[in-house]
Amino acid sequence: MKLSVIIPVYNEVENIDEMHAALRGALSAFDHELILVDDGSTDGTVERLEALAEQDREHTVVVEFRRNFGQTAAIAAGIDHALGEVIVLIDADLQEDPADIPMLVAKIEEGYDVVSGWRRERKDAFLTRTLPSRIANALISRVTGVRLHDYGCTLKAYRREVLQGFRLYGEMHRFIPAYAGGVGARIIEVPVTHRPRLRGKAKYGLERTFKVILDLFTVKFLISYANKPIYLFGGLGFLLGLASVVVLGILGVRRVLYDEHLVRSPLLLLVVMLFILGMQSIMMGLIAELLARTYHESQAKLTYTIRRVLNRPGPST
Ligand code: UDP
Ligand code: MG
Repeated sequence: MKLSVIIPVYNEVENIDEMHAALRGALSAFDHELILVDDGSTDGTVERLEALAEQDREHTVVVEFRRNFGQTAAIAAGIDHALGEVIVLIDADLQEDPADIPMLVAKIEEGYDVVSGWRRERKDAFLTRTLPSRIANALISRVTGVRLHDYGCTLKAYRREVLQGFRLYGEMHRFIPAYAGGVGARIIEVPVTHRPRLRGKAKYGLERTFKVILDLFTVKFLISYANKPIYLFGGLGFLLGLASVVVLGILGVRRVLYDEHLVRSPLLLLVVMLFILGMQSIMMGLIAELLARTYHESQAKLTYTIRRVLNRPGPST
């Protein structure tokens, strides 16, 4: 089985050589390729990647973006260029250990479709990273029904087939297992090593949690309602309509029986308005997500643009 390891790289000049060497070492027993996707680095990473591609033509493919499109787009580009039957994702910063990859692949060989790395002892800041991530994992597990401890861990292995049929947007690479679960993939979790980041800067903070939670709406929507959005929108519309009839009824009763004024405080109105506006903006967001997908997919537009590709003629798909 051929293995494609995809590594999103953004400003990791201090880590990239060691990471490449560690990967080559860990994978020597496999028929493999390394697809390093440079996500618009500005710190000299590109020159290092060029040198690596030059030294190791047989195993190393480099995809260079025109600018920073984000980790998810980098992963999507990696998948588009991969030729392997098994696809492994891993970060470039040495926080995850390439030595864990053979264990993940062994699980795929046992017949699993998704093998999800779990940083059981996570070495990141507690308040801004580990805690929000725990909450997000619990939430994602509940909403999608695919129960995992660590959606955020990049180190995961996939059988190629389960990656077919959907494209990645926003922060969505972490939701691949949920999608895969939706199409009936067999999923297993394995604990993996996690180390503190020794060199280079972490690219994310707390703000990503909000993006992830918003993406969760989209994922749930796409998994459960994309074919029948009217059930969601219509159902909610019915509920809101019903609620307003009930409230009207109560007001009517109070008016007739107790002679109370209909509007005692404008605050009530404000509460109602804000609630409706909030709901509506989420709903509009979901519609916009559908439209965005139509926009990209109807014209086979990509979510990234490539400056050049080293050691690979063109996308495999
Ligand atoms: N990364 C990327 N594009 C970005 C931000 C990050 O390709 O816009 C890469 C980064 O180089 C690293 C991985 O994504 O290989 C994870 O980034 P980071 O280590 O900062 O995230 P964390 O481990 O803190 O979640
Ligand atoms: Mg990291």
